[in-house]
Amino acid sequence: MNRTFADLPVTIFEVMSQLARDHDAINLGQGFPDGPGPEDIRRKAADAVLNGYNQYPSMMGLPELRQAIAAHYAHWHGVELDPASEVMVTSGATEALAAAFLGLIEAGDEVVVFQPFYDAYVPLIERAGGVPRFVRLEPPHWRLTDEALRQAFTPKTRFVIFNNPLNPAAVVYPREDLELLARYCQEFDAVAICDEVWEHIVFDGRCHIPLISLPGMRERTVKIGSAGKIFALTGWKVGFVCAAPPLLRVLAKAHQFLAFTTAPNLQVAVAYGLGRPDAVFDEMRRDLQRSRDRLTEGLKRIGFPVLPSQGTYFLTVDLAPLGLNETDEAFCKRVAIEHKVASIPVSSFYKDDAVNSVVRFCFSKTDATLDTALERLSHVLRR
Ligand code: PMP
Ligand code: GLN
Repeated sequence: MNRTFADLPVTIFEVMSQLARDHDAINLGQGFPDGPGPEDIRRKAADAVLNGYNQYPSMMGLPELRQAIAAHYAHWHGVELDPASEVMVTSGATEALAAAFLGLIEAGDEVVVFQPFYDAYVPLIERAGGVPRFVRLEPPHWRLTDEALRQAFTPKTRFVIFNNPLNPAAVVYPREDLELLARYCQEFDAVAICDEVWEHIVFDGRCHIPLISLPGMRERTVKIGSAGKIFALTGWKVGFVCAAPPLLRVLAKAHQFLAFTTAPNLQVAVAYGLGRPDAVFDEMRRDLQRSRDRLTEGLKRIGFPVLPSQGTYFLTVDLAPLGLNETDEAFCKRVAIEHKVASIPVSSFYKDDAVNSVVRFCFSKTDATLDTALERLSHVLRR
């Protein structure tokens, strides 16, 4: 059997969600909202199932969705894309990532990977024959530094995978860091694969800046998005990839034998959703920001050192100052079983030299869920 997958543990998201199910714990681990999602978008999808076209849609995605994606990014980020040659619909961002890695990487190519990383990246890069070159980002700021990039980029570097806003660290990278990364991509002639699934979930008036919008990056960036995150419908698995035609053409060759197409009814609903007024997106951000503040304040009151969350559904807690004498993983498992609140150990987002004192909590939940979780967590530090 293939070593990459045969030796792989089950993803931490499934492990912690299963532990939550087994112990009837509140799941603040895997990132998903506990609400049903926007009703107008769900109604559109239901109508498309009943009255629409339910056979194979076009391999590249419904033209109306590709147009809606291009219009959405032109409006929100000033990025002009040709829907016919620069936009493709995938079955979730995960499929887009797989298509990018399998389609672009040649055996021996070095791929710069920032730690902590989303857990799908490294197995897919390795299966594609790529060699990850890790850059360790340091809490509490997790910023890119010239020194770290200088060590990671080599003449063999062909790609960098960059997640912004960053899951699990909840950083929204400022222009200064993006300019630094863009400079390295250009100096080493590397392509940036940008996982921007959290692009709309940014707080405190921050703006997401797509790397593809920086000077010199338009032709060397693959931009990946996810309707699951934009609309709080994480189970839908509708993703999109935007890239210049020479890159997208090759990604499409991988996509045609990974998933080929994506549920047409969901595509119709996503096309509708992307065109909703700005106020709807602003309101979603405001609601999530309120939930972030509720969980942050509650955790601080209990005595947990909470690190800042600038975006995503997540905040992190640094256990180190608490002197608990256990790893993040042991803490997460103990708290899920004994106190019935599941979380995610951030060490799972490292291949080597892990930060193992940081734990991630998901706050995209109702106030009642957060309050019950906080009540349970209030017993954790009283030992
Ligand atoms: N990348 C990151 C950073 C994520 O947090 C997620 C969410 N699970 C994904 C990719 C996968 O997105 P999707 O569910 O659309 O496949
Ligand atoms: N993106 C979500 C998270 O980080 C879910 C990931 C997953 O279940 N694969 O929790």
